[in-house]
Amino acid sequence: MRVTGMAQWEAWQARTEPPVEEVRPGLWSIPVPIPDNPLRYTLCHLLTGSTGLVVVDPGWDSDAGWRALEEGLKSAAVTPADVTGIVVTHVHPDHHGLTARLRDASGAWVAMHPAERDSLPARAWRAAPDTDADGVWLAEAGVPAGVAAELGWKAGIVALLMGMPEPDVLLEDGDAVPLPGRRLTAVWTPGHTPGHLCLYEQDEDVLLTGDHVLPRISPNISLHPNSPAPPLGTYLASLERTASYDSAEALPAHEYRFHGLASRTGALRAHHEDRLAEILAVIGALGPTTAWQVTERLTWSRGWDSIQDTLRRSALGETLAHLVLLVERGQLAPQHPGSGSPVLYTLAGPG
Ligand SMILES: [Zn+2]
Repeated sequence: MRVTGMAQWEAWQARTEPPVEEVRPGLWSIPVPIPDNPLRYTLCHLLTGSTGLVVVDPGWDSDAGWRALEEGLKSAAVTPADVTGIVVTHVHPDHHGLTARLRDASGAWVAMHPAERDSLPARAWRAAPDTDADGVWLAEAGVPAGVAAELGWKAGIVALLMGMPEPDVLLEDGDAVPLPGRRLTAVWTPGHTPGHLCLYEQDEDVLLTGDHVLPRISPNISLHPNSPAPPLGTYLASLERTASYDSAEALPAHEYRFHGLASRTGALRAHHEDRLAEILAVIGALGPTTAWQVTERLTWSRGWDSIQDTLRRSALGETLAHLVLLVERGQLAPQHPGSGSPVLYTLAGPG
């Protein structure tokens, strides 16, 4: 892997924000700040066509973010009113947060993958039949009752998630983004989210990778109460597919741009295989174990004690995604004592 975005890389090291850059003719990278978040910014991308102007991943909804987006557009000699389309790689608030504000300022269409639309909290959560699905999910993962309250969603974030806009345009795998003068196609890369999209710009040979592949960190691959399918096996398959874009420069939504998608996706796959082996070792040593007990014993880069509140929920979701894959692979056997009781995992016996 070779870093190509040196200004972005230097800013990352210096803990500052990178500059707005014209990465290719008419393809701009605009850092939009994420308040109080170690990722610091989302790299929003702007693409001009022969007619029209598409913004990919507008970023987190804040006044500072909006100003950064406006400034970035100004560097490209355009304004929010000129935007004709908005594509989101996925609906997390650091990508989809500013979409409503930008759409209202421009009248632009909003596009995403159909599976991503279905995962919008306003759809997925309202469709959930049981109001305490979350409580049951936490209990079955073995989260102690005293801890479960800390892992619940906070009201502020729920309101924010529920207000995120629906798409006007659906992009399936291989579909062209409606931007005349550009050959920009959707590449469906489920895993980080069910409908995550990368976007391939054929003439410039660049792949906008969203959060699917980042140069330094491994994106969170989590099982949630509303997950439509176990995400880790899907993610590993998406990584394998992305390796075939090795000639392309990767333009991720965080950190910095780089070359070497085959080696980076290989490293991410190896990271997950290491994690799967670590989980088998923990369960081998402990005997029948809940997801929560496994989570507490795994190595976390920041240390388990420094992971708090909803970050513990992400860690638990990540462990569950790995446990489910090990069950699918026949290496673990789950024991389900009944709804609301902790599921225990043991090593699957031979045969
Ligand atoms: Zn992100």
